[in-house]
Amino acid sequence: MIKLASLSKHFGGTVVLDGVDLTIEKGEIVVIIGPSGTGKSTLLRCINFLEQPTSGTMTVGGLTLDVNRATRKDILAVRQQTAFVFQNYALFANKTGLQNIAERLLVVDKWPKEKAYQRAREILDQIGLADKADAYPASMSGGQQQRIGIGRAMAANAEAILFDEPTSSLDPEWVEEVLGLMKKLASERQTMIVVTHEMAFARDVADRVIFIDGGRIVEQGPPSQIFHSPKDPRTKDFLKKILTTNPV
Ligand code: ADP
Ligand code: MG
Repeated sequence: MIKLASLSKHFGGTVVLDGVDLTIEKGEIVVIIGPSGTGKSTLLRCINFLEQPTSGTMTVGGLTLDVNRATRKDILAVRQQTAFVFQNYALFANKTGLQNIAERLLVVDKWPKEKAYQRAREILDQIGLADKADAYPASMSGGQQQRIGIGRAMAANAEAILFDEPTSSLDPEWVEEVLGLMKKLASERQTMIVVTHEMAFARDVADRVIFIDGGRIVEQGPPSQIFHSPKDPRTKDFLKKILTTNPV
């Protein structure tokens, strides 16, 4: 349901994504790992057109487009099908928990207020933050703010949710509650693409782990294969380092 073919992204003369081919099935949970600065965030951002890819084609939710010929309407249609969860939550500081989740339904989807708030309350229930409906982000813990961030993505009702290191700016004490919510979504077969270094999460939840280096997919496979019998020396080297600091 998401298919990238020869997707590339250049910043000036720097090639950050170098012809990525990737197909993600509906309901699949994919974890992306790789060294810092290798294009993981750029890949997610290109899928959502937060960055304009330089070349390639993209199929999202039944719409296939050449990224260079995409009209504004195409881009909006593709963007509707993917929701983004940012490392730093990106909540509206001047909106409550309820308003943060309802915002997209009101502004993008143009739902009437009552319906939008009703849906936002359902989501607050699902993310275990019904009691934070009227609280502002500043009064919430990092874990609670990120759960609201995920609630916002859930409200988008998109085909896939893209997570860019959703727990890496959290104090350790809040990591588990965010991973717990992500596991719940995974058990409901919400399609997810997750950039993370939480290796235990990858092992337990991912259908597929993709190792990226130098803007290319070096290796991919089920977590058991990637963790226990990586083929490429770069994957081996990366895992040796990361598993020392993030053991599974
Ligand atoms: P990762 O998420 O794997 O750490 P990124 O996708 O953030 O890597 O970045 C990959 C490379 O692209 C880095 O070298 C980074 O400096 C570069 N880059 C990312 N965004 C921009 C930008 N807006 N302008 C110029 N270079 C960028
Ligand atoms: Mg990144």
